Amino acid sequence: MAAFRTAAAVVDALPEGELDRRIRTRTLTDLRGIGPKTGAAIVQAHAGDVPEYLARLEESHAELVPLADDVAEFRSALRGDLHTHSDWSDGGSPIREMAEAAISLGHEYMALTDHSPRLTVANGLTAQRLERQLDVVAELNEELGPFRILTGIECDINVDGSLDQTDELLGRLDVVVASVHSDLRAESAAMTERMLAAVANPHTDVLGHCTGRLLIPREQREGRRQRPRPESAFDAEAVFSACVEHGTAVEINSRPERLDPPLRLLALAVELGCQFSIDTDAHAPGQLDWQGNGCERAVETGVDVDRVVNTWTADELLDWTAG
Ligand SMILES: [Zn+2]
Ligand SMILES: [Zn+2]
Repeated sequence: MAAFRTAAAVVDALPEGELDRRIRTRTLTDLRGIGPKTGAAIVQAHAGDVPEYLARLEESHAELVPLADDVAEFRSALRGDLHTHSDWSDGGSPIREMAEAAISLGHEYMALTDHSPRLTVANGLTAQRLERQLDVVAELNEELGPFRILTGIECDINVDGSLDQTDELLGRLDVVVASVHSDLRAESAAMTERMLAAVANPHTDVLGHCTGRLLIPREQREGRRQRPRPESAFDAEAVFSACVEHGTAVEINSRPERLDPPLRLLALAVELGCQFSIDTDAHAPGQLDWQGNGCERAVETGVDVDRVVNTWTADELLDWTAG
C-alpha cells in the first residue's frame, strides 16, 4: 500500500487542472512516484469508478474486513437474496447447498434465479428444465421450511427488449430478474429502448446489474476468461424513471467484480425514487455472504432501508412481485 500512499501524495501536490491534463494526455506515469499500477488506479478512481486494484483487494479480503456499524445494521435488515445461481446453470453447487448456506446466514428466503435458454455459455435452462427445477424446488421447500426457496429466473433481455422465456413460465415464477448479457456495446438509444421494454414487462420484478460493467477479469465455466469491460451506454434517467413507474426494483449487485450500478447511477436511482434489491448474484454458497458490499454502497448513497424489497417478509415480497 506504500506505493499508493506515495502516489496519492504526488496527486495531492499537483496544481489545479494538472491531474485532468495528465490523465487526458496519458502522462501520469511520467511523474515520479506514479507507476503503471498506481496510475491505472488513479485514472479509474478519477472517473468515479472503483479502482481495479481495490476491487481485487475487496474480492480477496471481503470477509476479513468487518462492516462499519451502520452498514452492518443495514445488512441485518435483509431477509433474503433475490439473485442466486445453482449448478443447474453456471453456479458451482446444488440448490440444496445454496439454500443451506442462506439458512446459516439467517436468511428467510432465497430466490433461485438460474439463467435463461439463450445464455448457452452459462448452461441456461430450457423451458423443460425450468419446469423440472420447479418440482425440485417444491420438494426442497417441504423439507427446508419455514425457509423458502422462491422460484425464479435471471432472464436475458433479448436485443428487442423481450424476455428469453415463455410468458406462461414467467407468470408462474415468484421472482423474475431481467438482465442484459449480450450486445453490451450497443448504441445508447438502442440499449435504452431495450431496457425500457424489459422494465415495463409485467413479469419483470428486478432489473439485474444494469450497466453490465466488469471491474476485474474473471474466470467462467470451462476456463473461459472475461476481461474487464466498461458500463453499457443508456439513458439511466429514463430507465430508472420507468422502474419507478412500473414498480421494478433496481438491483444493487454485490459481486466484487460488478458493484453495479456505479455510485453516481445509484445516487440517481435514489433521487428518482426507485426501489432496490440488494443481491449477491452468488454462484457458490460462500458468495451469499457478499451482501455487505451492496449495503455499503446503499448506505453511501442514502438508500432508505424500507425501499429495499428484500428487507420485506416473503409474503410481502410475493404480494409485490405478483402485483
Ligand atoms: Zn447476470
Ligand atoms: Zn446472475
